Amino acid sequence: MNKIDSIIIHCSATKDGLDIGKKEITQMHLQRGFSTIGYNYVIRLDGTIEVGRSLTIDGAHCNSKGFSGVSYNKHSIGICYVGGLDAHGKAADTRTPAQKEALANLIKKLCSKYQIVEVLGHRDTSPDLDGDGIVEPNEWTKMCPCFDAKKEYSDLLVV
Ligand SMILES: [Zn+2]
Repeated sequence: MNKIDSIIIHCSATKDGLDIGKKEITQMHLQRGFSTIGYNYVIRLDGTIEVGRSLTIDGAHCNSKGFSGVSYNKHSIGICYVGGLDAHGKAADTRTPAQKEALANLIKKLCSKYQIVEVLGHRDTSPDLDGDGIVEPNEWTKMCPCFDAKKEYSDLLVV
């Protein structure tokens, strides 16, 4: 990527407590025809941060176009925490305390390294159908990452 100005948070959409990581997610993405894992970072249940796709190439985690009109895959860092579904397979914020801490620390670090202007959840990049400037829950095309990342992390922006 030439320019990095955003961070998009994802979940792996796996059930609470399923302890997978970069290796398993890479397998899933290879099966979907990607050249490697789509995310740049994976945060495991125990808070371990695994480095995924290199930031030197375009991402493969969010093809929506934001206000800039350019696909987020070309200018955003994709972070995926493992989880996002409860035991019944329903969307839920399953982040462990260790994952919450690791996410906040990683976002802080990335905001100090790059000129990050927005931290969003994947669902926040859904099309704004009624054009009011806000992507409301009824406009979400997916639940990912199953919590309000925009609200929780906007304070970490330094720009
Ligand atoms: Zn996602």
